[in-house]
Amino acid sequence: MRVLVTGAAGFIGSHVAERLADSGHDVVGIDDLSTGEIGNVPVGIEFEEASILDEVRLAAAIGGADSVVHLAARPSVPRSIEEPMRSHHANATGTLNVLQAARRLDHPHVIVASSSSVYGANPTLPKHEELAAQPLSPYAVSKLAAEQYALAWQQSYGVGTLAFRFFNVYGPRQAPGHAYAAVIPAFVHAALAGEPLTIHGDGTQSRDFTYVGTVTDVITSAVESRTTCPSPVNLAFGTRTTLLEMIGTLGSVLGRPLERNHVNPRAGDVAHSQADNSLLRSLVPDVQPVELADGLRRTIDWMTTAWAPTTLPS
Ligand code: NAD
Repeated sequence: MRVLVTGAAGFIGSHVAERLADSGHDVVGIDDLSTGEIGNVPVGIEFEEASILDEVRLAAAIGGADSVVHLAARPSVPRSIEEPMRSHHANATGTLNVLQAARRLDHPHVIVASSSSVYGANPTLPKHEELAAQPLSPYAVSKLAAEQYALAWQQSYGVGTLAFRFFNVYGPRQAPGHAYAAVIPAFVHAALAGEPLTIHGDGTQSRDFTYVGTVTDVITSAVESRTTCPSPVNLAFGTRTTLLEMIGTLGSVLGRPLERNHVNPRAGDVAHSQADNSLLRSLVPDVQPVELADGLRRTIDWMTTAWAPTTLPS
C-alpha cells in the first residue's frame, strides 16, 4: 500500500512511518518541521518538507495514496492558550485540507489523530466515546473540530475515516527539555539529570499512559485492514495511573527514589483521564499494550543513548 503520513518528523508520526515502511508499505511523509525534527524521519521513505496548509504541496504528496495517517498538528495545550489561532489553523483547518485532498483519491481512507482532551471537564470515568465533549482549551476544541470533520466527511463524501482519540502517548523521540514537554519525557529527563520532578498540583491527577509502539501497532493494523468507524474511537488501554504512581514506577526502574517539586496547577489541564477501550478492542482486537515499566525503560534507554538536545521549538 502507499501511505501518506502527515507529521512524519514528529514523535508519533516518525514511529508510524517507520513501522509502515518496515512492514513493506510505500510511505510518503509530509511535515513542516515546526515542532518535528528532520532526524526523526525514517530512512528510506519519501519526505516533503511542507505544511499541510499548503494545498498544492499537500495534493502532490497525497497523490496515489491508499491510506492517509494524519498526525500533523500543534499538539500542546499551553501553546494553544498562548496562540489559539495558530492551533486552530494547524489542527482544524489543516485537517480540513487533508480531508479535502483525500476526496480526490480513488478509495480514500484517512486516520485522524484526535485527543482525550476533548472530554475536558466531563468528570465521568472511564471516558467512553458517547460522553459529551467539554473541551477546556483551544487545543481540545481544535481536536474536536478535526475529528468531527473526519466523521462528517464519511457521511457527506464517502471518505473512509477513523478518528482515534489518543490519550497520553509516551516513548522514544518525545523530546524533553522545553516548557511544553509532555510529562513523561520531562520527568525522565529531570530524573536522569538528578533534578527534582516538577509536578503541577498535588500529583493525584491521573492519566491513561500509552506507549508509542502500542499506538503504532494499532494504527498499522487499522491501515492494513482499512478500518473505519462512524464515531470517534479511544486509543488507550484503560489504565489509570496518577503522576505520583508513575513517579514511583520510574523510581523503581531507575532503582532510586525521586525528589519532587510541586507548583501551581496548569490552566486547561484535566484532572483525570482513563479510557473505556471496548470500541477499540472490537475494531482492533489483537494488539497487546506495552506495560508502563517496560515503556519507561525503553524511554530511558533512548534518552540516555540516542537523544541529543537540539534547538527547541518556539
Ligand atoms: P509532534 O509535535 O511530535 O508531531 C506533530 C508534527 O506535526 C510535528 O513534526 C510538526 O512539525 C508537524 N506539524 C505541525 N504543524 C504542521 C503543518 N501545518 N504542516 C505539516 N506538519 C506540521 O506531536 P505528537 O505527540 O507526535 O502528536 C501527533 C498527533 O497526535 C497530533 O495530532 C496530536 O494532536 C495527537 N495527540 C498526541 C498525544 C500525545 O500524547 N503525544 C495525545 C493526544 C493527541
